[in-house]
Amino acid sequence: MNKEKIISDLKKLVGDENVSTYAEDLFVYSFDSYSIPFLDETIMKCRPDVVVKVKTTQQVSDVLRYANQWKIPVTPRAAGTSLAGGTIPIKGGIVLDLRIMNKIKKIDIENLQVIVEPGVIKAKLNEALKPYGFFFPPDPGSEEYCTIGGMIATNAGGMRAVKYGVTKDYVLGLEVVLPNGDVIRTGANTLKYSIGYDLAKLFVGSEGTLGVITEATLKIVPLPKHRAVALAQYRSFRDATKTVPHLIARALPSAIEFLDKYAIKAVNEWTKANIPEEVATLLIEVDGEKEDVRLRMNEVVKTCREFGAVNVQWSDDPNEMIKLWTARRDSGPALLRLRPEWAKMYGAEDVAVPLSKLPDAVEAFQKIGEKYGIFLACIGHAGDGNIHTSISIDVTRKEEQFLAIKRAFEEIHKVALELGGVVAGEHGIGLARKAYMEKQHGNALQVMKAIKQAIDPNNIMNPGKIFD
Ligand SMILES: Cc1cc2nc3c(=O)[nH]c(=O)nc-3n(C[C@H](O)[C@H](O)[C@H](O)COP(=O)(O)OP(=O)(O)OC[C@H]3O[C@@H](n4cnc5c(N)ncnc54)[C@H](O)[C@@H]3O)c2cc1C
Repeated sequence: MNKEKIISDLKKLVGDENVSTYAEDLFVYSFDSYSIPFLDETIMKCRPDVVVKVKTTQQVSDVLRYANQWKIPVTPRAAGTSLAGGTIPIKGGIVLDLRIMNKIKKIDIENLQVIVEPGVIKAKLNEALKPYGFFFPPDPGSEEYCTIGGMIATNAGGMRAVKYGVTKDYVLGLEVVLPNGDVIRTGANTLKYSIGYDLAKLFVGSEGTLGVITEATLKIVPLPKHRAVALAQYRSFRDATKTVPHLIARALPSAIEFLDKYAIKAVNEWTKANIPEEVATLLIEVDGEKEDVRLRMNEVVKTCREFGAVNVQWSDDPNEMIKLWTARRDSGPALLRLRPEWAKMYGAEDVAVPLSKLPDAVEAFQKIGEKYGIFLACIGHAGDGNIHTSISIDVTRKEEQFLAIKRAFEEIHKVALELGGVVAGEHGIGLARKAYMEKQHGNALQVMKAIKQAIDPNNIMNPGKIFD
């Protein structure tokens, strides 16, 4: 069928104002927060044929039914903060923009749950829940702009996963539009269920390859009344990470974050925070009732010192806590701005390893950075072994540095797998990590492919993502 006819049919389904073929739109919908397009010419040149905005489940269903009939690729897209290239429409076709499906449909405190449309921005959900004394805990660094649909589709995590878990732990039920346009409801609105295959969880982390999530029933929990934060610094990474399981056992922190000395140096340069530039820094947050928080913070301080911390300070004063969090909160932008001629590259930025392997992984990654002459800092979620390498290249030596980081990315993923870890702790596979799926899953990958074939036989949903 010709393109004009497709555009005119789509306009009939969702309205003229919700269909765009403007060159500017096709350009901005051709990439996301993953910067690998700069490395790969073919990805850089891909464009959708048309951008379609949808407001209702019925519209999503109509568009998918139509696309399936004519075998047109559909790439679901929300805020586009994917760090895996999940929304890049590498096969062209339709980019389906879900941001205007953004209603909080029901806040049901009695049943400890909310019902939301997929385009609701994470931070807005928590703003709405705050007056009730509740919250939805997964907290990606992008929470001010990423959406609930994107979080479910990538099983997003964040800093507080060590205590509260990740997005999948809060998904009770989903409404999903399948590639053939059928609408299904999966899961339940009870807080537990054992009712056969857990299809709701199958769609969590499916990155738009199996269908479009159009509604979610999410568990919510009471907002903690009090928080305190400690900063603990060590002369050895091994000592710092040895502390982590003991901290979890003794004080159940809500976050245990880590930074290496390069990250602290970048924060100091950018914010003038003047934090001692020790080899390893941990930031530990405890939450709960005031007295209990203080008691557990005493345990945190004692435990950090016992395992070799040379500098420990903590506070539960809100202004002081903001200062202590500076190191972690500002490390991303600080590393991004380190030198004017440097550019931060995403890729190999999200591996996770078993807790006991964290020091081996960080040491190996630092050596890989040195070997390839690229700037590499390690920050991340120590509480769940998730390492965010921050890699910058000197763009004045582009060709040579591109080659170097491609090799570095490969080695980092190889080390993570050899240490018994995973290539993605929370950012997903998308395009960025699909080359490692076989090594990650072995013959379980064939089962995933069989599921994809059964649900999406025409391969219209986000084709070319996760695996080919
Ligand atoms: C500065 C920054 C910090 C970040 N920090 C974190 C972090 O701490 N933890 C973390 O886990 N991630 C983090 N991320 C990554 C990103 O924010 C998450 O992956 C987020 O969940 C993506 O949400 P989104 O709305 O932007 O989705 P998009 O980027 O638009 O889409 C992501 C994927 O989900 C699919 N998708 C989106 N909506 C739907 C839907 N309704 N139905 C089916 N498929 C859908 C898309 O096709 C794509 O594959 C960060 C990103 C940035 C830029």
